[in-house]
Amino acid sequence: MENQFYFDLVSKHREKILEAERYIWEHPESGFKEWNTSAYMAKIFEDAGYTLTYAGDIPGFYTDLDTGKPGPKILIMGELDALVAPTHPEAWNNCAHACGHNAQCAGLVGIALALKEPGALDGLCGSIRLMAVPAEELIETDYRDSLREQGLIHYLGGKVEYMYRGYMDDVDISFMIHTGSRTPENSHIVFSCNKGANGCMAKNIAYKGMASHAGGSPHNGINAMYAATLGLNAINALRETFRDEDKIRVHPIMEANGSAVNIIPAKATVNTFVRGTSMDAIVAANKKVTRALASGALAMGAEVFVSDRPGYAPLLNSPELMEVAKECMIAVAGENAVSFDDKMGGGSTDMGDLSTVIPSMHPHVAGARGKGHGDDYGIEDPETACVKSAQCQVLMAVELLKDNAAKAKYVIENFKPVYPSIQAYFEAVDQLMSDRDLVKYTENGAEVVF
Ligand SMILES: [Zn+2]
Ligand SMILES: [Zn+2]
Repeated sequence: MENQFYFDLVSKHREKILEAERYIWEHPESGFKEWNTSAYMAKIFEDAGYTLTYAGDIPGFYTDLDTGKPGPKILIMGELDALVAPTHPEAWNNCAHACGHNAQCAGLVGIALALKEPGALDGLCGSIRLMAVPAEELIETDYRDSLREQGLIHYLGGKVEYMYRGYMDDVDISFMIHTGSRTPENSHIVFSCNKGANGCMAKNIAYKGMASHAGGSPHNGINAMYAATLGLNAINALRETFRDEDKIRVHPIMEANGSAVNIIPAKATVNTFVRGTSMDAIVAANKKVTRALASGALAMGAEVFVSDRPGYAPLLNSPELMEVAKECMIAVAGENAVSFDDKMGGGSTDMGDLSTVIPSMHPHVAGARGKGHGDDYGIEDPETACVKSAQCQVLMAVELLKDNAAKAKYVIENFKPVYPSIQAYFEAVDQLMSDRDLVKYTENGAEVVF
């Protein structure tokens, strides 16, 4: 079948795709709260004749398209969640799609409708799993920890949680396409892909001091905000020890919970990620960051409680899958509009976790404007961000599964997983999870640092 046949299957549903992009943009919801977005997507899928498996107690769903012939299972995803971005001019309920996941969902609509058209699966083998997945952005970690305590989720990222639930167990290859912004230097680029991207750890840090009269008896207080500030300064002093190749990024934000200016603050909360290109580099940098945080507490005689959560594993795109994708991207957009490089991106995604156990790929498509996660972010060219993205992903599925899945088998056979199994991956990340006091004070005044 000619490529144009598949492109037309997507274009036929152009209006529905663009409508989904606008609707989801106008109704942003943050991670594990995307009930409306999930229901909107589900209705489109069910109207098109899909039978869905719902996660149920959290948003999102998946469905399988079986070609009727045995073969590999390809997973294609769209992310449902928006960012908490209260200063974005188009924020709704404090949220905005400042990462463009609305365009991904619209693309997934196009893929789903196209693959239900007559002839779409002719000549293919295996199956295609389409998945609307929640909670990619690693935010609101206190809220997500409360979901963990209730037993609703076990991990903070949507794909990781879906993986834990077994929704990826029989998947052989996975991919999605994330929206990206055009800049003056890359204005001609439609599709791009890095070698991979940083992984991260999430840290929630609570400094606890003692309230007292800020004017009358500050000597009776312990200033938790100062303790936190010292901790942050110690982290800043460590930055020159980070190796360039590890691309360590530590970017704390602080909330000082002073009740009033005349009270020594008894509480200060710090949240940060520790990002890096490998798990070893992240773990090593995290040790230093933890030590720095303890130093601020020790100096002031404050307490500090730290919760470490495995964030996302570094993303390593499958080189073989990139080869297949590149051909498809060129077919959609032309040779000059496709750019691949061997850099590691600075951000993190839970596609990284999948990429440690399943050959995976997380490239970008143009069509957005402004800064990713910025207040000027938006979708300016939905034709590219959604329709072309869907055409490319349909073609990728076809290329992988045609000719008795020769290309899918090539990708699978050459895959070098970081962990031998999904279970081994979870055993490794579970070791990164901890909740502990860093400093303890004994009766004779000695401090013990953990
Ligand atoms: Zn994002
Ligand atoms: Zn994103």
